[in-house]
Amino acid sequence: MEKIQMKTPIVEMDGDEMTRILWKMIKDKLILPFVDLKTEYYDLGLPCRDETKDQVTVQAAEATKKYGVAVKCATITPNADRMTEYNLHGMWKSPNGTIRAILDGTVFRTPILVKGITPFIPTWTKPITIARHAYGDVYKNTELTAQKGAKAYLTVENPDGTVEKAPIYDFADSEGILQGMHNKKTSIESFARCCFNYALSLKQDVWFAAKDTISKTYDGNFRDIFQNIFDAEYAEKFQKAGISYFYTLIDDAVARVIRSQGGYIWACKNYDGDVMSDMVATAYGSLAMMTSVLVSPDGNFEYEAAHGTVQRHYYKHLKGEETSTNSVATIFAWSGALRKRGELDNLPKLVAFADKLEKATVDTIEGGIMTGDLYVMSTLENKTKVNSADFLTAIAQRLS
Ligand code: NAP
Ligand code: MG
Repeated sequence: MEKIQMKTPIVEMDGDEMTRILWKMIKDKLILPFVDLKTEYYDLGLPCRDETKDQVTVQAAEATKKYGVAVKCATITPNADRMTEYNLHGMWKSPNGTIRAILDGTVFRTPILVKGITPFIPTWTKPITIARHAYGDVYKNTELTAQKGAKAYLTVENPDGTVEKAPIYDFADSEGILQGMHNKKTSIESFARCCFNYALSLKQDVWFAAKDTISKTYDGNFRDIFQNIFDAEYAEKFQKAGISYFYTLIDDAVARVIRSQGGYIWACKNYDGDVMSDMVATAYGSLAMMTSVLVSPDGNFEYEAAHGTVQRHYYKHLKGEETSTNSVATIFAWSGALRKRGELDNLPKLVAFADKLEKATVDTIEGGIMTGDLYVMSTLENKTKVNSADFLTAIAQRLS
């Protein structure tokens, strides 16, 4: 059989622990036999990040800007335990945080649906993609406590030396608490562009919601920035693609989401996205079935699984014990990257391969062969729990 040829490389970011084991198996069993794979490889495994003083992460992010498409394995974010375990020279920052800061991107999370695993909201027959604005608001706040009798003000010093001062509260009868937060027009604009670009790429509607009836300036700005960017840059493209942009109040949005069938992108402010992404992931079933893609406002895409390195399974693996680790989200990270590469390079065979890889994966599970995490949830009558390697072999058999 002739292998599918590629033009431009994909940026490949290897990772840690159990997902690093799965990474190699996915490539060997599901991709290399079918695709003449071109990648530019960066080892983001913790030992290499430590050796390079984390420069390898920066290089991988820069390469993503150059080539436009990347696929990333889950990586360890070091904490005190990891400092000793890996004898690290520094507590390196989260690679995802570093990459996101360089690409200025937005993360979109989408669940993978299979028959036999019914969402807790059974009407959700299509995936809901959550986009979280990962900048500012309460995550970059300043907090103070106020004594009884204190008066609190919000102050802004303008570059021309003038000062604006607005009263917050007079704590005449009680001590209290205060919080100051901000966001930036540039960040909200780039968030909006990421959402609209990704919607065009998926051909799905965008929903956005805030609380602009209460927060007239802060949330009102979010609403206006989204609308202005949409009207100026996207309205026509959306119309051609047959999709729409829809703004509503956050509480109305939540009610509509629950009644919906799914199949759209829900753009969330930072806190809403933090909370709602956990709710939506849980409602769809399993973190191991959740994919994630970082999209930058200028159109770079980095695909990964939403879960971590599955440390507990890795320690079993190291002891020589069999694991039944779910590789679906990592497979979909690869298929997502291959499809996007195929679209950008005009390689229909590569796009078709990505579709087939995803279909073979879903068909394998719907045919009753699955890893342990899905086995305990699946309502299929004939189901078999298999180990990590046998699951991939079963998919490979369907593929060929
Ligand atoms: P985790 O790796 O997502 O795993 C938590 C638990 O969820 C696992 O122990 C397992 O449950 C279950 N699970 C997750 N993915 C699974 C899969 N593919 N197949 C089967 N079960 C799965 O989270 P963690 O243990 O909190 O974090 C481990 C490391 O990952 C940390 O060092 C963290 O920094 C890193 N992390 C990286 C990323 C990333 O790179 N994007 C994201 C999150 C965390 P059972 O043990 O009950 O089977
Ligand atoms: Mg959260």
